[in-house]
Amino acid sequence: MPEPAGDLADVLIIGAGAGGGAAARRLVAAGLKVVALEQGRWIDRSEFRGAEWDWELSAGKRWAAQANVRGAPADYPMDLAECDIQIMNFNGVGGGTILYNAVWPRLMPEHFRERSLYGVAADWPLDYAELLPWYEATDREMGVAGLGGNPVYPPGAEPSNPPLPFGSGAMAVARALNRRGWHWWPDTIAINSVPYGGRHACIQRGTCAQGCGEGAKASTDATHWQPFVAAGGRVITGARVHQVTLDERGLASGAVWVDAAGRDHFQAARAVLVAANGIGTPRLLLNSACERFPAGLANSSDQLGRNLMLHPVAAVIGTFPEQLEGWQGQYGSTVQCQQFGLTDQRRGFVGGCKWSLHPLGSGPVAESVLQLAQGDPATYHERVGRRLGHKLMWSIMSEDMPVPENRVVLSGDLCDSSGMPAPRVLYCGGADVAANLDFNVAQAEAVFREAGAWEVTSYNPAGQQAHLMGTARMGDDPASSVVDRWGMTHDVPNLGVIDGSVFVTSGPVNPTTTIMALAARTADHLARNFGLIAPEQARRTWLAPLRPTRKIDHAPVAEAAPLAWTDERAAAFAAIADALVPAVAELPAAGQLTRERGTARQAYSARPDLHAALDRALAAGPDGFADLIAADPAAWSAMAMLLSAAYFAVPETGARHGYFGQQPRPAQPDRYPAYIAEGLIDHMLVPGWRERWAAGDPVAA
Ligand SMILES: Cc1cc2nc3c(=O)[nH]c(=O)nc-3n(C[C@H](O)[C@H](O)[C@H](O)COP(=O)(O)OP(=O)(O)OC[C@H]3O[C@@H](n4cnc5c(N)ncnc54)[C@H](O)[C@@H]3O)c2cc1C
Ligand code: SF4
Repeated sequence: MPEPAGDLADVLIIGAGAGGGAAARRLVAAGLKVVALEQGRWIDRSEFRGAEWDWELSAGKRWAAQANVRGAPADYPMDLAECDIQIMNFNGVGGGTILYNAVWPRLMPEHFRERSLYGVAADWPLDYAELLPWYEATDREMGVAGLGGNPVYPPGAEPSNPPLPFGSGAMAVARALNRRGWHWWPDTIAINSVPYGGRHACIQRGTCAQGCGEGAKASTDATHWQPFVAAGGRVITGARVHQVTLDERGLASGAVWVDAAGRDHFQAARAVLVAANGIGTPRLLLNSACERFPAGLANSSDQLGRNLMLHPVAAVIGTFPEQLEGWQGQYGSTVQCQQFGLTDQRRGFVGGCKWSLHPLGSGPVAESVLQLAQGDPATYHERVGRRLGHKLMWSIMSEDMPVPENRVVLSGDLCDSSGMPAPRVLYCGGADVAANLDFNVAQAEAVFREAGAWEVTSYNPAGQQAHLMGTARMGDDPASSVVDRWGMTHDVPNLGVIDGSVFVTSGPVNPTTTIMALAARTADHLARNFGLIAPEQARRTWLAPLRPTRKIDHAPVAEAAPLAWTDERAAAFAAIADALVPAVAELPAAGQLTRERGTARQAYSARPDLHAALDRALAAGPDGFADLIAADPAAWSAMAMLLSAAYFAVPETGARHGYFGQQPRPAQPDRYPAYIAEGLIDHMLVPGWRERWAAGDPVAA
């Protein structure tokens, strides 16, 4: 049996991400003794690569958003063989907010009542008005940039900070939306447009999804967990929780966690809040099955793990004639369009959609790889030149309805580095989602063309998502829900869930503001009723779990040693590179250039994980390289990526296309009057506009 670690906590929080942070800060302020267990570590902002030459290379591994790609010690693998969507997350203090884009819209009042309004899904046991005070408190804690008056934004105080800027491309798109009389608005973002909360203003480097080196983006490590520790709270990092435990009374008594060396510990607590996210939470509670709850802790309803909602997205990319410097600017969203934000069954499907317009979030390496895939070296420079920085993207996000078969279960054979079963995710988007995305993508493509895009490319579906919701749903009826209206489980009164798992419906909007508002509300409820919910117990006990921790060998797995950059490798790399990217005007061919400047070696050193695949590409040589795109895509892409990174690491290469790296720029929050001066938002400010919008229209305006 593991040794107790430290004293009895009043409240134990499992997972130091967004929901956990919102609760932790309030509980410690209420005078409770709070301990948080987090499997990851604190991240220092200086680790982010946004200002460095290799930012795109590091985004493919070290700062990748998919744990299965990142494979860091804090990560757990996921079995996604039966899941339509690649799951994104981040495991560390701050959780997903370390890598998120901070797009910050609220659910609309309608989304809490979809059963009553549209006859679908289920109603929430609370409404928007009830949650509003916690939405507003969370906004104040995070700092939100935006423009008040959005007719389709739910009621409440205006954002604390002025909106972030958007450039000439977004203006052209806004004008195109105006010609249709459609909705659009500068999006609400938890990024500082001006200094706020002791953090800097955004400098528009555009690398939000790889971590914000400026601290302008509100991530909960800074906004919540640091203040929590300063107020006396304790975060134990490197602590992977295997089991939430019960005592003889059927109350949660704490959790068993394993440290990096494989030693088990027990943290006792009077109340436990699980905040491990929409996949990590059902995984943990399923793994905490015990005699009283053989199908998973707090799972008498059989709803734990079910109703997973993931917000499938499509991407529509427009390429414009003018240079838009599409690598700069806040990545998540500049302009939102919610013209089709609510269900209108006359369109033939259920669910709304939100569009977010934003820069591409990638730079010269991604564009170069795309163009290398097209072949024909003779036109490579011309093709890159017409596209690099000229693109804008609509992220089209579909509402996802709860379906019991979309669920998280425990894998029978895959486990993490501490022996805990991995989550197996079963998810299929379904016909409504497909129809919703098809409809909205067609509209968004037309808007881009109307705004002047000469090339429009869609990825439908785009295939990855980080919005993890629904797997411990909230409800008044214990037979059909896992947690009650306050976020506490029906089955175990002193055990709560404070992450996206509790969502009843998903709306088509980014979930984190709602996750944090709900978590803050649960925390206030718990603090107010602490003696009642978490009665004291003389003895600290826990019952033996049904699933004893699997013991595995904790000897660190030796990573493949990096391969040396030998003369042979350098020569083979240069030969392929010269063939793919020939000399142009003042620049020699890419192989010669990157060898002379030493950037080929630099790129090679930055990604040891690609060495083996690159060797296969080098063996194919210039003549066989093109065949690899079908025969060995991993080898093809290792070569294409390292070549592109090495080529654009030479300053003259980027300069040829106006690319000078991710430049710090002032956020210029005073630029917003441009669209106001032009009268672009006037049509939405007319009385009755929202009512007409909510009444909908089968096709368009
Ligand atoms: C690239 C990317 C972009 C995104 N963009 C947006 C956006 O623009 N807007 C938006 O609203 N949302 C966005 N998100 C999603 C957002 O990050 C999540 O909604 C939010 O972080 C979820 O909060 P949470 O508290 O539910 O869980 P998380 O923030 O995921 O935190 C869970 C924490 O629990 C820890 N944990 C899990 N299991 C265990 C265990 N067994 N033991 C110990 N610790 C454990 C994890 O390490 C993690 O730190 C994005 C996410 C990513 C990755
Ligand atoms: S664009 Fe702004 S929020 Fe995003 S990484 Fe740069 S400074 Fe941070």
